[in-house]
Amino acid sequence: MNTSELTNKFYDLQSRLSAYRHAVDLIYYDGATTAPKASAENRAHALGILSEESYKLSTGDEMLTLLDDLAKVRDELSEKDRRCLELAEKEINEMKKIPLDEYVAYQELIVAAEDTWHSAKENDDFASFLPYLEKIFAAKKRFAELCAPDKKPYDYWLGQFEDGLTTEKCDAFFETLKARLVPLIESIGKAAQNDDSCLHGDFSDEKQLAFSHKLMEIMGIDRNRCILGTTEHPFTTSIGSHKDVRITTNFKNDNFASSMFSVIHEGGHALYDMGSCDDLAYTYLDGGVSMGIHESQSRFYENLIGRSEAFINYVFPVLCEAFPEEMSGHTADEVYKAINLVTPSLIRTEADEVTYCLHVMIRYELERAVMEDRLEAKDLSTEWKRLYKEYLGVDVPNDRMGVLQDSHWSGGMIGYFPSYALGSAYGAHILKKMREDIDVDACISKGDFTPINEWNRKMIWRHGCMMKSDELLESVLGESFDPVHYTDYLEEKYKKIYNLV
Ligand code: ZN
Repeated sequence: MNTSELTNKFYDLQSRLSAYRHAVDLIYYDGATTAPKASAENRAHALGILSEESYKLSTGDEMLTLLDDLAKVRDELSEKDRRCLELAEKEINEMKKIPLDEYVAYQELIVAAEDTWHSAKENDDFASFLPYLEKIFAAKKRFAELCAPDKKPYDYWLGQFEDGLTTEKCDAFFETLKARLVPLIESIGKAAQNDDSCLHGDFSDEKQLAFSHKLMEIMGIDRNRCILGTTEHPFTTSIGSHKDVRITTNFKNDNFASSMFSVIHEGGHALYDMGSCDDLAYTYLDGGVSMGIHESQSRFYENLIGRSEAFINYVFPVLCEAFPEEMSGHTADEVYKAINLVTPSLIRTEADEVTYCLHVMIRYELERAVMEDRLEAKDLSTEWKRLYKEYLGVDVPNDRMGVLQDSHWSGGMIGYFPSYALGSAYGAHILKKMREDIDVDACISKGDFTPINEWNRKMIWRHGCMMKSDELLESVLGESFDPVHYTDYLEEKYKKIYNLV
């Protein structure tokens, strides 16, 4: 075969793999949203078979021979073809080190674990989830040892979510944040407190749903390619390619802000996913490049835009229209201060921007300790409570609001959490860069997201996985990433809100 025949065959195989991914994504989405309660086993059956087929296609002779042949003509390939090859080689070389039966058993384990996590959280029953959690941690350690025996297992998984991330880098990053955030939290604690009563009331699902659709419209999300569902834990998923994206939220009837910021957060993920160039669909290059960059986009829209004074001033009349009785007598300034209330709390997804990273650090410490065999999964609940007391000074009343609150571990996403803090910090540096080109506040004040979205599309979204995450970030920033822009942003914003000198 000549080079062009080889690349055609390579794209054909990637396209076939994406069809399996499409089916798998849809089954997971269905399981989290509308599938009947007792159907997990049924899904695990189909997922087991689909993952076996896709494993065989990825690691079969046809693909391995093709990768070898393509590697021989690497210099003749286009930039796009070369990058596809690089990503395929990385993924497939690692995948084939995991025996097929273990690979399939793991996919089935995840379905059962997610299903059990739902009921465990509902019933505040950590013990029922524990056997799954133990198996997940064991599988993660084993896979890391098989795929990258030269790396520490936890470092391997950190690197799967963010290129080149290690515990050493995480430690340095978190220390930088702590040094600035802990004193800031202390001075805010001593300042006169704002109240958040304007966020509370009786907000029906119907009204919140209508408001969520309005938010998605304001954000410029293409509704022909993105729908909104409801789940216990909000998330975003692409189905097969960036051409079909699903986001979810969770309505709390006594507080509209919980779902509001989930919708904006997941909407940020959706914009990023949907922004890939169309010719990247059905290839290794489609969608977001890493979870750190993904979170830089979701937390950018959620916080840097969504919790800004300019946005709240713009959205306040929309809020009043959505919840006329509940909002009557309140002002935009009250809402701005309420949604930026800094208070140590129990739930990460509802935490304010200043204490948020402490929630992430707790999860990082815990999962790292289990991966390094310094802590057993059965002790996670107790350790969770101890660290919340130490870091945030709060008492965790139950596991539902503690160790069972996030869905990540049940989905096998160990090593994901640091991406949230990194992404938040990337976002602040990206905003500083964006401000050189765009009057961001002026756009937000008018509810005009187009220039902001177009900037992100040009600099970040359209590239998909063409660059590694660190290369992409550096190309956007024009300099090395520096977390100081994040701590500067937080200090400046919150000193103003809390009248601190
Ligand atoms: Zn997110």
